[in-house]
Amino acid sequence: MDFDTLLKTQKKVIKLFHNSLRKDRLVHTYLFEGAKGTSKIEAAYYFASMILCKGDNKPCHKCDDCRKIEKEIHPSLFFIKPQGGTIRKDQVEKLEKEFSLTALSETQRVYIIEDIDKATAAAANSLLKFLEELGGDKYGILITENVNQVLPTIRSRSQIISFEQVPPTLIAEELMLRGVDFEISFILSRISNNVDECLELIGDGKILDLIELVKKVGFTLASKTKDPVLVFYEEGEFLLKENDKKYHRIFLDLLVTLINDELSFILGETSEIIFKNTIDNIAPYLGSDYASKVGEVEKLLSFKQRLNYNINLELFYADLLIEIVR
Ligand SMILES: [Zn+2]
Repeated sequence: MDFDTLLKTQKKVIKLFHNSLRKDRLVHTYLFEGAKGTSKIEAAYYFASMILCKGDNKPCHKCDDCRKIEKEIHPSLFFIKPQGGTIRKDQVEKLEKEFSLTALSETQRVYIIEDIDKATAAAANSLLKFLEELGGDKYGILITENVNQVLPTIRSRSQIISFEQVPPTLIAEELMLRGVDFEISFILSRISNNVDECLELIGDGKILDLIELVKKVGFTLASKTKDPVLVFYEEGEFLLKENDKKYHRIFLDLLVTLINDELSFILGETSEIIFKNTIDNIAPYLGSDYASKVGEVEKLLSFKQRLNYNINLELFYADLLIEIVR
């Protein structure tokens, strides 16, 4: 469990935890809501450490309890996540049983339920009863990315804590601290709001090739030094063979990002630029034709819609590039 990103990006939440603990205002059930990648699980483990820590400055990250929590092996911390797409009634019942078997030495307990919006009706009913009976040093943290899909009866029995989106610049800085290249860090921070997910994308290998292809096609489109369709077919064979539409969407999104960078450059707003190195190569070819760049972005976005259907990818990219050059 890594709390670095959490501590850097969710300062308000951490402050709320500490204030509530100090003023003895903790509630028994919290509902953490926020987009993917906003360190909600880490915050739940941090909260559990605060409750179960035996050190002076809670969480001390040094005592046995803190260390067991960070290794995810603490006997008083229970973690539930969907199995086969849902949180089931028997998972909640098992939790209730564990909580009723309280040894004298371990009165403090914390449970965490990830994706509470995926609870079946039966599981949610079972949980509601449990929430009402929860008292003493027992705490529950429910986590969701879709707060509107959580049952109102569960919402009303919880203190809702909202996790704000992390600014992309912070994600980029975090990636650079982990050794990722300067420009790649900024580009990835636009694809995902989660450092771990960015690192996974690099790990799966395709993303770096994809970024390289965007740079080459983008350069050709702006400089008109070569036929962009030809460049695409020479360099982008791997993408044409790719069946996962996710990568095609990323390709188009990044090409839009690059053209937006060109617009920023034309307007002199260089601090906004994401392709921080590539733009230097393209800059000599950029005139002041703002309108045609806006047109390119519009064409790309309308082509992106077509990815929702069954399409022939070779024809799709040929049409797209010809349309942009026109
Ligand atoms: Zn501790």
